Amino acid sequence: MKKIIEFFEKYQVILAYSVLLALILTIAYIVFTQPQTKTALVAMESKTFDIRQIFLSEHKKTNENIIVVTVDDMSYEYLLENYGDWPIPRYLYGEFLDYVEAQKPAIVAFDFLFISALRNAPRSDERFIEALNRYDNVFTAMNFDDQPVSVRKPPELPEYIKDNFKIESKNLVPRRYTNCRAILKGIMEAVKNVGHINTPKSDDGVNRIVPLFITYPAIKENSAESPQQDDKFLYMTIKVAKRYLADTKGMTFENEKIDRNNNYIFGDRKIPLTNRGDIILNWYGKSGSTEGKTFTYVPLWKILESVKLKRDGKTELFENEYFKDKIIYVGTNVFALSDIKTVPTDKYMPGVEIHATLLNNILDNSAIKQLSIPANILITILVAGIIALIVMTFNSTIVAIVSSLVFASAYVFLTYVLMRYFNLWIWIVWPLTASILTFIILYIVKYLIKSRDLEYTYKLATTDGLTELHNHRYFQERMLDSIALSDRYKQTFSLIMIDIDFFKKFNDSYGHQAGDAVLKNVAQTLKKSVRTTDIVCRYGGEEMTIILRDISHEDALKMAQKICSTIAEKKFQLTPELQCHVTISLGVSTYPENGKTPTELIEYADQQLYKAKENGRNQVGNFAPEKE
Ligand code: GH3
Ligand code: MG
Ligand code: MG
Repeated sequence: MKKIIEFFEKYQVILAYSVLLALILTIAYIVFTQPQTKTALVAMESKTFDIRQIFLSEHKKTNENIIVVTVDDMSYEYLLENYGDWPIPRYLYGEFLDYVEAQKPAIVAFDFLFISALRNAPRSDERFIEALNRYDNVFTAMNFDDQPVSVRKPPELPEYIKDNFKIESKNLVPRRYTNCRAILKGIMEAVKNVGHINTPKSDDGVNRIVPLFITYPAIKENSAESPQQDDKFLYMTIKVAKRYLADTKGMTFENEKIDRNNNYIFGDRKIPLTNRGDIILNWYGKSGSTEGKTFTYVPLWKILESVKLKRDGKTELFENEYFKDKIIYVGTNVFALSDIKTVPTDKYMPGVEIHATLLNNILDNSAIKQLSIPANILITILVAGIIALIVMTFNSTIVAIVSSLVFASAYVFLTYVLMRYFNLWIWIVWPLTASILTFIILYIVKYLIKSRDLEYTYKLATTDGLTELHNHRYFQERMLDSIALSDRYKQTFSLIMIDIDFFKKFNDSYGHQAGDAVLKNVAQTLKKSVRTTDIVCRYGGEEMTIILRDISHEDALKMAQKICSTIAEKKFQLTPELQCHVTISLGVSTYPENGKTPTELIEYADQQLYKAKENGRNQVGNFAPEKE
């Protein structure tokens, strides 16, 4: 039991700090695992991604073979003016298609949903379908949703638009939808190359990702099988990319799969996916439609106008090989048609440019890979650890702050370099937040330890080693203090000087060791005899002093007398067999009546002490008990 208490006494400081540290870490843990905190940190991390992307876009170049044809504001006006309300009659797409296909483009992909039949122009869709049947390099889009069955019956989709690949990953949770509006049957049959275009936004409304594929319950009319497995549908642009790579590089895709580490493998490509099966896009800067820095934009109206000019045998607006070998994406770029998204690098980007961006990422092998959560946590611990090292190593606050800032900046720069050269997204927010917390916590701990050290050093410097009373230096300081305090509060204070009687003799008879023990004992007895606010010091040798605050001279004399008797009555047990007694002589002086300075007060008390010695010792100088 005693050992346990000793242990606690010895290590109480370390224990106290450990408890404090554990408490802070627990609070940090509770705060950081709150869903709201997590969401906020994830949102902040996404913002750092956006900022990195904005800086990086300076260094990126887009593929010149990608052309984006858009229904821009002018085209929208043109179409409304010439062909009435949206959607426009589809024979126009037929004419558009025949016009561009004449120049032998690699691919034409429509980012339009051909979902409802046009009533006013019955021949219109047929004209488009006719054209579609002439080419096999056309792709079009479909959208999935979660409409309730009672609102819309989920349609059965044809086999040829489904995609088949192995999924080896164990932790992949693909995006699943339970309903969709199939595009017109005639168009679907004519195109055959149909992919989904669902692009979910992040919580902050920004489009950063594209789902590689979505799953949709396999629905078979007149089938008793149930439950059925989900079908997979690739994103339209993945299908475009596969076709383009097959045509231009002769790539084949027997190895198509999602591997254990959530990489989509096809041909010689390896596209990193999130565990939702999303591709994180690497952006090319402000939309080509706003600043002209990304992809080549061609307004649809110009092509339609060119169709007319060609028909009339006039000079066309596009030279003969303008669209040759190009990948043409067709989509809208007006708010009225609501396919405008916010992306990391721009406030407004037409959905069709997201397709172009993804295609470009695949062609360049530059989709973003986000480091796994355990790896990011490891980095967070590492970064915070280095900050801890910095705080503990440097004594100067300024040096610690500057070094930490330099290190943090270097880390941020590293994340930029990794994204620029390795398309790698490593976290910034967690490591920096952890670093700031580490810095603050360790700084506080360090400060506490330091202040304890100071306290300890001060105590060491002001305590007498043998008696554990305050030492001479401390006594002098307190004397000055006491004078100042008495002046301010108009109080008096007294000084008692004490000297042990015949101590030389005592030493001679019992030995120095016994003398030390008695000295120690007398000191402790003195301490116990006075109030805690009174200051007991070892003046030197076997002389001791007591400063008594706010006391009159008479009371101080009485106090001295009491102490004198206490010591005289006390038995000092030297060894189990040997008992002895000592007596003391005392002198008292009071401020301000007996002196205005410490020297005067000490001198007066000394004189009184001398009187006590002269009068036979074991008494207080000038004390007249007969008055009582
Ligand atoms: P008196 O004061 O009654 O006149 O006689 P005294 O023998 O006590 O004389 P004085 O005060 O002049 O002598 C002080 C002695 O106290 C000298 C020394 O032997 C002893 N002494 C001083 N400091 C210590 C100490 O730390 N330990 C021990 N054991 N003895 C000490
Ligand atoms: Mg002495
Ligand atoms: Mg003495």
